[in-house]
Amino acid sequence: MSFKGSYAGVGTVSFRDMLLKEQILRAIGEAGFEHPSEVQQNAIPFAMVGQDMIIQAKSGMGKTAVFVIATLQQIEPDTDDPSIDTLVLCHTREMAYQVHREFERLGKYIPDVKTGVVYGGVNVAEQKKALTENMPHILVGTPGRVLHFAKDRVIKLNRLKRLVLDECDDMLQTRGMRIQIQEIFKMTPTEKQVMMCSATIGDSARSVCRQISRNAEEIFIDDKKLTLHGLQQHYVEMDEKEKIKKLNDLLDGLDFNQVMVFVKSKERAAALDKVLQQAFFPSISIHSGLKQEERLERYRKFKEYESRVLVSTNLCGRGVDMERVNIVINFDLPKHPDQYLHRVGRAGRFGTKGLAVSFVSGDEDKERLKAIQDRFEVKVTPLPSNIKASSYKN
Ligand code: ADP
Ligand code: MG
Repeated sequence: MSFKGSYAGVGTVSFRDMLLKEQILRAIGEAGFEHPSEVQQNAIPFAMVGQDMIIQAKSGMGKTAVFVIATLQQIEPDTDDPSIDTLVLCHTREMAYQVHREFERLGKYIPDVKTGVVYGGVNVAEQKKALTENMPHILVGTPGRVLHFAKDRVIKLNRLKRLVLDECDDMLQTRGMRIQIQEIFKMTPTEKQVMMCSATIGDSARSVCRQISRNAEEIFIDDKKLTLHGLQQHYVEMDEKEKIKKLNDLLDGLDFNQVMVFVKSKERAAALDKVLQQAFFPSISIHSGLKQEERLERYRKFKEYESRVLVSTNLCGRGVDMERVNIVINFDLPKHPDQYLHRVGRAGRFGTKGLAVSFVSGDEDKERLKAIQDRFEVKVTPLPSNIKASSYKN
């Protein structure tokens, strides 16, 4: 089956029509969700009755809420003998944190359901203590740390009812993570619901998804239709040495709420951030070279709008949801077209307007830009010298 990827369909089904629990509807209302997006309309009715799901839908269209709502709707927490009912695996620690928050937000009126989060880079003993003292029904985590706790028997997965893989293609294609996920998978009962989602699920990822699910309801959209309509995509050709000057000009000239600037290495992230701060831009950086506490602190700072420019490696290139980002700049073009799609999807979340500008320097970049345009059938045009703020700012 395939569906278009618009954010709110016409002739729509409402959240109420889905016959969700009253407590969930209340939380959805408070979150400000008025209508379900198209993927939510198409996926929730299947997911909430326990069907396996493979969901590909555009960036920023609310895939998280699909598995969060489907889980909260079905869960029947054992309050006497709590054990993990639902395990959600995420590809980065920041994503685990973010997804956990979404469970808390949409589950706030179901107080019996406890959710927890674990990820690497922070103290194991503290997390272990928290888990032992207060075993969650829903556990969100990164594969490495989850596996660690499962092997150590801190958590038991033998009563698991649901397994979710967010950004599934990334996790299943990153070798180390794939192996960890396979190990985790082996500890879970055969009978369970498996839900997987991403904006990009290519043929090989799709076949792995099929192997680990049964009779999944598959929602796919053509790669050619993944383009976000509210997002303008441009490029600027220049020499490597002109990049900083150009970035400076863009940040001066463009009307941004928040900007994400992507670079290819952690060294470059730190260095560019420093340059921007010296030029008095409200900038921070995030990359894997930082201590985990610091990483999350910076993620939070940007999310809370305390900083308006985030220089990042691919670490925040997919999944992260920063509502106010209206501009994405590829200071370095990503290697893979999929990475491009995810990065630019950080702007224009949930059908809002946005602008993506990619720096193209040298022949290799030109090839990359061509590959991106072919793959997603998107026209990335030269950045016009005069671009109206109303075209990329809501
Ligand atoms: P995806 O995983 O598909 O990229 P997210 O789940 O991160 O997208 O959701 C993107 C943003 O849209 C989030 O800020 C989320 O709160 C918001 N959102 C999700 N569903 C709705 C809805 N039905 N109405 C309004 N906003 C929504
Ligand atoms: Mg997502």
